[in-house]
Amino acid sequence: MKRTSWLTTLLLLPLFLFTAQCSRKPSEPNRPKIYLLGLDGLSWEMLDPLIAKGELPLFARLKREGSWGRLKTFKPTLSAVVWTSIATGRSMVEHGIVDWTYVASKGLHLPYTASERRVPALWEFFNLYGRSSTVLHWFVSYPPDPVAGRIVSDSFPPALVTILGGARPSRFVSTVHPQSEYWPLVRRAEELKKSGEWEYGKMSTRANLPDYYELYRKTMGKDPAQAPVLKGWPQFLLYERLLDEEVDLYLPKNKDDLFFVYSHLPDTFLHFGTYYLEKEYRNYVEETVMAKPIPSREEGREFDRRMADLLLPVLKYREATLAKILARVEEENAYLVVVSDHGFALSPRGYTHQNLPEEMDPPSGMVLLFGPGIRKGQEIQNGSVLDVAPTILTMAGLPVDRKMEGKVWLQAFVKPPEMKFRSYPPRKKGAAGKAEDLDKKRIEDLKSLGYL
Ligand SMILES: [Zn+2]
Repeated sequence: MKRTSWLTTLLLLPLFLFTAQCSRKPSEPNRPKIYLLGLDGLSWEMLDPLIAKGELPLFARLKREGSWGRLKTFKPTLSAVVWTSIATGRSMVEHGIVDWTYVASKGLHLPYTASERRVPALWEFFNLYGRSSTVLHWFVSYPPDPVAGRIVSDSFPPALVTILGGARPSRFVSTVHPQSEYWPLVRRAEELKKSGEWEYGKMSTRANLPDYYELYRKTMGKDPAQAPVLKGWPQFLLYERLLDEEVDLYLPKNKDDLFFVYSHLPDTFLHFGTYYLEKEYRNYVEETVMAKPIPSREEGREFDRRMADLLLPVLKYREATLAKILARVEEENAYLVVVSDHGFALSPRGYTHQNLPEEMDPPSGMVLLFGPGIRKGQEIQNGSVLDVAPTILTMAGLPVDRKMEGKVWLQAFVKPPEMKFRSYPPRKKGAAGKAEDLDKKRIEDLKSLGYL
């Protein structure tokens, strides 16, 4: 009898240790999980007036119960460049992604891919320490790095659109890592297609968004399918709908140390949202304000306030995503980071963030930090997009790469965290190949956003 129980214990011991290991993982004090929601183009100029009106209760709560700040960003203020800086803690000269596209051999313009990135991204640093990541739609994440966890690269959404248009799915397996995760996503997308979920009207209603297409027809009396940026809206909305699917699929059972969700939605809307300003005000701005070399501070603020009102439905849509993430964060006593790459500013060249006049600074991005030991209502002073990566490494208890150019936001912590530094090995070049026929599609997307 005694011998049997002894034997049972021995046999069960590895299993016990294994389960203990698994169940300990989320609550391990030195290994907190970090959830990040990236919202392209979002700024406090959009959030603050809406919060003041009692809108966006979750953003308001996070600002009250977490630390928040403006983030200095850099020229050229191109999303691909800045999101790579956020993920690497390095400026573009160092990380090597300096534009949307580069001229390859034979004078061919190709979109930048992760193969051209010269330095490691956060998920690679985490991987070195045996920690895993989920990364969804991050800019310049194709080909996905072969890290523990999963990366649904930014080439997956355009690949899916191509597949829904009739292309063979097997051509695009390399857009997701590991490839075993690719097929369930494609199958789910095909199911949704059958049930009509990808139809523009349905996506728009589900997201509680105004029908911007119809609204444009009514207010401008013109065909939305010809309107710059707006013409690409149904497709960009599909990318976001796809993101919702992925969040719902991966978030509830997440075991990864890093969970990164990137949404392009605020930026997409702000690139065409000026169509919906009151006609009189729009004419006034075009004829007087934009005729000046630089609009005054008050003129800029007034414009921001009006754009914030228009952006509200989009932000409510993404606030619902934030609510889902926050539920996990609170359950697991994890950290939450909400971050953007830049804001928008009124200029003689329109409401934009790129190609601003020389005298104008690039409009700041935003950050919110929330979690164990993060100060409540604390403003993070002099923040920069370069600070995100070293701060995340520090929150995770990992050493900061000495080559990173930003600083850790120590002021955001009640008790300053222990700082560790090391020199990390240079980035291993990804083994994955080039996008299969996706370059053309991705360049079309960039053009439809007015980026190229
Ligand atoms: Zn951007």
